[in-house]
Amino acid sequence: MQGNIFVISAASGTGKTTLIARLLQHHSDIRVSVSHTTRAPRRGEENGKHYHFVSVPEFERMIEEGQFVEYAKVYGNYYGTSTQSLESLTRQGVDVILEIDTQGAEQIRRLLPQAYSIFIAPPSLATLEQRLRQRAADAPQVIAVRLAEARNEIEQARLFDYLVVNDDLTAAEAALLHIIKSQRCRLENQTPFLNELLGSSDNA
Ligand code: 5GP
Repeated sequence: MQGNIFVISAASGTGKTTLIARLLQHHSDIRVSVSHTTRAPRRGEENGKHYHFVSVPEFERMIEEGQFVEYAKVYGNYYGTSTQSLESLTRQGVDVILEIDTQGAEQIRRLLPQAYSIFIAPPSLATLEQRLRQRAADAPQVIAVRLAEARNEIEQARLFDYLVVNDDLTAAEAALLHIIKSQRCRLENQTPFLNELLGSSDNA
């Protein structure tokens, strides 16, 4: 049985990475696809674990060779999901999360209509502004630009299948888990089990 694919996007400052990290820590049958990026590693980030860190020429070579399921430029750096990274996980039967931006989500919606998309939203724009201020010691103009960008990202939420509000981490994690687990119970995902239960080789 192949695992399901979940695209998860959010405006920056929504706490998406923390939320997904918690989910993965608690559920070994849910995994995240490791993307390629041309941005420099941040402190504590490991090559091959958080990202595959590559140079711009290397990334562009991979684009030319058609190695990405989707890719986008975010804040001036390339980010992409390689077919190899995605397939090696879905083949293991685990549920796979693509933690990608809304441009990537759009590409996945077109290419893999069987994937489910989840948008993580902040409880309010005021909370988001507060989080952005806390996170970076940026100048007020920079924060204002980030906030305007966040607003544009949030407008994309209408294109997603699900929306989870990250007000409380525990509640948001539970909501994410329910969405992911419920897809496993969809009839089309249970057909192999049903066939085995009934002793039939008929896959219809
Ligand atoms: P960061 O640099 O903070 O890790 O990520 C910046 C943005 O790039 C985030 O919105 C993140 O979800 C997105 N991103 C990370 N990996 C990918 C990817 O493979 N494809 C796309 N389209 N976006 C990605």
